[in-house]
Amino acid sequence: MSLVLEPKAIKAAVRKLTFRTQAFIDGKFVSAKSGRTFPTENPATGKPLAQIAACDAVDVDRAVKAARKAFESGAWSRMKPGDRKKILLKFADLLEANAGELALLDTLEAGKPIGDCATMDIPDTIHCIRWHAEAIDKLYGHVSPTGPENLALVLREPVGVVGCVVPWNFPAQMVAWKIGPALATGNSVVLKPAELTSLSAIRMAELAAEAGVPTGVFNVVPGFGETAGRAIGRHMDVDMVAFTGSTEVGRYFLKYSADSNLKRITLECGGKSPQVVFADAPDLDMVATNAVSAGFWNMGENCSCGSRLIVHKSVKDELVTKIAKLAKTWKVGDPLDPQNRLGSMIEKPHLEKVLGYIESGKAEGARLVMGGKRVMEKTGGYFVEVTIFDEVTPQMKIAREEIFGPVLSVIPFSTEEQALAIANDTNYGLAASLYTRDLNTAHRAARAIRAGTVSVNCFSEGDITTPFGGYRQSGFGGRDKSIWAHEQYTELKTIWMQLA
Ligand code: NAD
Repeated sequence: MSLVLEPKAIKAAVRKLTFRTQAFIDGKFVSAKSGRTFPTENPATGKPLAQIAACDAVDVDRAVKAARKAFESGAWSRMKPGDRKKILLKFADLLEANAGELALLDTLEAGKPIGDCATMDIPDTIHCIRWHAEAIDKLYGHVSPTGPENLALVLREPVGVVGCVVPWNFPAQMVAWKIGPALATGNSVVLKPAELTSLSAIRMAELAAEAGVPTGVFNVVPGFGETAGRAIGRHMDVDMVAFTGSTEVGRYFLKYSADSNLKRITLECGGKSPQVVFADAPDLDMVATNAVSAGFWNMGENCSCGSRLIVHKSVKDELVTKIAKLAKTWKVGDPLDPQNRLGSMIEKPHLEKVLGYIESGKAEGARLVMGGKRVMEKTGGYFVEVTIFDEVTPQMKIAREEIFGPVLSVIPFSTEEQALAIANDTNYGLAASLYTRDLNTAHRAARAIRAGTVSVNCFSEGDITTPFGGYRQSGFGGRDKSIWAHEQYTELKTIWMQLA
């Protein structure tokens, strides 16, 4: 289904939607063995959308067995890379043919603006699958520089059965970041979507099967973290877990691995990304545009959200005025209305958490420039205003903890040394932006900031060709996106031959 981004057409498309709500295991839709389901809700209305299969350890085990059987059969793991490529390209084509539906599913379940889902999330999801598919028949192994009496081949082989556990903030896209490289390299996958956003992942599994991904290679087990997620983490026959979510839950996976079979773990976790604006920033209007996107895009429910704006005191007041003016044009409202730049928070407890941070900012003495309140309560949805605090100090809670809401903290500085110290004064290290006209400052600061991605004179996570992941407690064990992602889903194999 293609989608016209116009309110009437969107409403008509929503009326036509049907939801896949069961698990997808061994090529079939199935209910949880227990028969249990849980409600998924539209956070923009507070109303239930559907009942989803509540998978637990029994269902995870069923999915792992199917994935293992498929892996051992070689139907996918030993398929010629060129043939795997064709199937994954067909999968990307089917995602494209159903892009409108996928965009609506993510908007309805996550409260994300339809404009973002239709023009960013789903196109990026498709591009990610296509990019990894296109790469697989262009990668070579190595021959080691041994003596003439030996031949040593260094090859990459799929890890085996990969568990993927993903968050709710970019539902379809996070699935693609994991399964793109995992499937491209020949693994079988058991994926658990976040319990708040299961619908697009289940539909993606159906489309993968339609494209020809063999039975059992891509399974989806919706359910809760403490049941289905934990069962994946502790399963003795899962070779690897690729996780994206909070640092707190990421830690559990390291424990699960240690307590079970030492499965490989990769973690993409939280962030508290700095945006450093030097006195010689090239153009404050450009900086304001980027700072607003960095702070408020996806309602701030974004791991690389530039939530700390560290600004030289000589330009701070002018920049804050520009940002506040621009931020007023970012309308909060019904995520199905393409005019709106911000939808709702993901759920009521999260809304309350964000409002709690806003209260702590006020209590600790930060100056509230704009916003700060829940809005549109009558809709039943969990909307919060775009919020800016000035005169924030690095010790305040709002400057230290990941808020995951549309709350920007402005922290002034006087010297470069001070700016970099503030930027690095965090447990996280996912992303950063810096703004300067001086190439030397740009290089110096980009190297000094401890983060996986540093953008200069823009706010960007790079594109599919660049690795994405974090230093320190923002990540562990690997990177998403780019050709480097293939490394984490493969084992290195040495074949050492004695020549006569
Ligand atoms: P979360 O950690 O609460 O949940 C993530 C996943 O883990 C979900 O599928 C959840 O069901 C599962 N889970 C929860 N408890 C579990 C447990 N005890 N055992 C096993 N699995 C469990 O995160 P979230 O709230 O869904 O997402 C927000 C977080 O994700 C933020 O911290 C954000 O920064 C992070 N994130 C990071 C990236 C990145 O690339 N670094 C991208 C997007 C989001």
